Amino acid sequence: MTQFIEDVRVRPNAFWLGGKAQNADLGKTQSKAQIGARTRHIPNTRTLYQHGTLALLVPGLLDGTISMGELLAHGDMGIGTGEGLNGEIIILHGTPYQVRHDGSVVVVPDSFTLPFANAHWADFSTLCGIEDRSKSELAGWLPKATGLPNIFFAVTVTGRFSNMRTRAFAKQEQPYPTLEQTAQHQRLFTAESTEGTLLAYYSPQVFNGVAVGGFHMHYLADDHSIGGHALDFRIDHAQVAMQRFDTLQEHLPVASPSYSVHDFSDDDIAGAIARAES
Ligand SMILES: [Zn+2]
Repeated sequence: MTQFIEDVRVRPNAFWLGGKAQNADLGKTQSKAQIGARTRHIPNTRTLYQHGTLALLVPGLLDGTISMGELLAHGDMGIGTGEGLNGEIIILHGTPYQVRHDGSVVVVPDSFTLPFANAHWADFSTLCGIEDRSKSELAGWLPKATGLPNIFFAVTVTGRFSNMRTRAFAKQEQPYPTLEQTAQHQRLFTAESTEGTLLAYYSPQVFNGVAVGGFHMHYLADDHSIGGHALDFRIDHAQVAMQRFDTLQEHLPVASPSYSVHDFSDDDIAGAIARAES
């Protein structure tokens, strides 16, 4: 009989290097001592992890159902929002920043919870330099230029933006309002000539509702003077890098009572996302 206290189950989606611990061992049970002695874990850079759906924000299912500590086990880059739509989250190189409704930027602790988030392990490839392009020009050009309109990918745009317009929601309390009600009280921020990093996730249109069909973009200035969900901008000059994914790992908040019983049939998911998130 297997002793689960003594043994650990090798995760089938992990990659292992060294010794005999190659593919033949995947799915088998090994002791911790064996694994520690001859294997090394390499993050899976081809998977985009998502907790929750954009759709659950629409009727106001805003309970925090994953902790930042758990989320960071799935990547060192990411975006999301806090419980109650508490600000805008951008994870850059393992550091989870929150752009708050008052415009301040803080690093959140592992105990911070989120209703919706994306994360992945960074393995970006430089695509090109880019100059003098609007958000809509970038968003229209990238899927065509890369030939990837039907797969998930992440993009970073790092450099100078001649203007930037972002927003951050204020934390809502129970009973939670709908996404569009909260959006009426969003705080807008603008800056001219800001340097920083835009992190965008692209989802094929068929996944609109699961995520934002097209691009979902968050920004953080290097000096933290502006950040949040990027509504509009113009690139002055920047470097564009991208990373494609072949797998979406969609994790649902199965332990959330409000999510479990909600009937989405009367929610205008696509309409609300288009009005509040694009
Ligand atoms: Zn956002």
